[in-house]
Amino acid sequence: MMAALATAALAVTACGTSGGRAAAGGPGRTAASARPPASRAVAPAAAAAGGSGPAPASPPPAGPLAGKVIGIDPGHNGRNHDDPAYLARIIWNGRENETCDTTGTQTDAGYTEAAFNFAVATDLRADLLRDGATVVMTRTSNDGVGPCVDRRAQILNAARASVAIDIHADGGPPSGRGFTVLEPVADGPNNAVIASSLRFGADVHAALLAGTSMPVADYYGTDGYIRRDDLAGLNLTTVPKILIECGNMRNATDAALLAAPAFQQRLAAAFTAATVAFLAPAP
Ligand SMILES: [Zn+2]
Repeated sequence: MMAALATAALAVTACGTSGGRAAAGGPGRTAASARPPASRAVAPAAAAAGGSGPAPASPPPAGPLAGKVIGIDPGHNGRNHDDPAYLARIIWNGRENETCDTTGTQTDAGYTEAAFNFAVATDLRADLLRDGATVVMTRTSNDGVGPCVDRRAQILNAARASVAIDIHADGGPPSGRGFTVLEPVADGPNNAVIASSLRFGADVHAALLAGTSMPVADYYGTDGYIRRDDLAGLNLTTVPKILIECGNMRNATDAALLAAPAFQQRLAAAFTAATVAFLAPAP
């Protein structure tokens, strides 16, 4: 949609997850346009051209995530601010009505959460493909609007992902630092994946502390965790899932990290390590 007059009316909102129930990332009930991004599992190019002898069989995907489908939901979208009416659509989040989505937050320098989320998701996708996974994303660019948050959950559910992660960064108080793992609360649709989601959340928490310099949040949650029952992405999930607030974009120290491509790659590597740890066969 074109950026139009209405744009100014919609202030950039905080990420919406740390601020309490009202601002939950915005589910959307619309049967929207978004279509599940194609998972481009790397299919090794077929046999060498023109070779003689028996055609080599396609080697099975190698790597610790071979045969696994991993879901990634990069929160918000880069043009959400252009379509306030779309964001205002009412959707059912599993417990109550809420709006389709928000614009997300941004750093004081204007680096948007939507861009950050998509950059980390892109790095993560590359890492996961390298490890043999099939990856499904809820959006495949940062140049669009939506989909609404309920649709995002549906996309990952339909993909029957082995595990999924919603990637966000927070818009907290400027003095606050750190990451928070947001975990689901049983509400019906997600009942079967609460325990597994908590286990994945612990893996993500440990991997972030081991692999990045981001501390646990000192302004939100407890020791880097919080349970949330008001987010469509967690309420509606039928696959193990957590939402990660990677840091606080309104804090200068966190913002400098979050905006740095090298740090984004470290986040992606940590999420990959957490995914491998979560899906590793029990000893
Ligand atoms: Zn967000």
